[in-house]
Amino acid sequence: MSAEAHRFAVFGHPIAHSLSPEIHKAFAAQLGLQLSYETIDATPGEFDDAVRRFFAEGGLGANVTLPHKTAALTLAKTASDAATRAGAANTLTPLVGGGFEAHNTDGSGFVRDITERHGFDLRGHDALLLGAGGAARAVAWALMDAGVQSLTIVNRSPEKADAIADAIGEPARCHTRYWDGLEGECFDLIVNATSIGVTGGDFDLPMSIVQDHSTAYDLCYGAAAAGFKGWAIAAGVRPDWFRDGLGMLVEQAADAFDKWHGQRPDTDPVYRMLRQRF
Ligand code: NDP
Repeated sequence: MSAEAHRFAVFGHPIAHSLSPEIHKAFAAQLGLQLSYETIDATPGEFDDAVRRFFAEGGLGANVTLPHKTAALTLAKTASDAATRAGAANTLTPLVGGGFEAHNTDGSGFVRDITERHGFDLRGHDALLLGAGGAARAVAWALMDAGVQSLTIVNRSPEKADAIADAIGEPARCHTRYWDGLEGECFDLIVNATSIGVTGGDFDLPMSIVQDHSTAYDLCYGAAAAGFKGWAIAAGVRPDWFRDGLGMLVEQAADAFDKWHGQRPDTDPVYRMLRQRF
């Protein structure tokens, strides 16, 4: 079958900047698979029709990014536990008989990057999660599953952080604080899952929350990670203990690739290729 017959895509708005086509094509080349992978720009009003048309025309898998991750879950016929718990989907797979399944690889991609690539064993750590959007929800569940000792979630809109903690339902281990209520607390892992690096804003957090062994991880990468990195290093995080989300991007893509093709690619060469640019 030609590459065109094996059609994959990523939906978003905007989407031209997406690295997903490059990543999936590199995985396919590594494994000797033929496929096409395109970007499809759809506004929120167009997303429903565009994704249904894509699968009706034989599309074999779709990734979904901002602002469609919640809508993708709503449109799906079935959903994995990861997508249901995150309340959002980034991976859609057609079902025999019509419709598609929603899945979410953000949480697994984050854990694989921080544990396997960066050697950070999450078990027993006190983690702070900044943000309560779709990515934060996925990461919160993944941190809990990976065995953190405690998870504190703060968000500009505190009710969204409370909703995640309520859904997790382990008050002894997972709780929320107000963004400006962290004075006197300490964390050995601080994860930024806000979009401040993209949309603008300040990390007005007390520097005393950082300990001398703390690791900081930003889901953003490239220029968008500069603000949080600057705050973290000023607060005392060692520069080589700061991690950005480039590895998570590659790992979440590999988990989607594995779901569609039944083979997990070697992510390191693709990560190293992208790292030269970010
Ligand atoms: P959402 O839009 O769903 O959530 C955005 C979050 O950022 C919300 O918690 C929001 O708070 C918070 N926020 C935005 N602006 C501010 C501000 N000025 N001050 C304080 N908080 C703010 O986005 P996602 O959860 O989907 O994505 C979050 C980030 O993670 C994005 O930058 C995205 O690029 C990145 N990401 C990276 C991935 C990777 O593979 N590396 C994968 C997925 C996401 P509020 O609720 O109050 O609005």
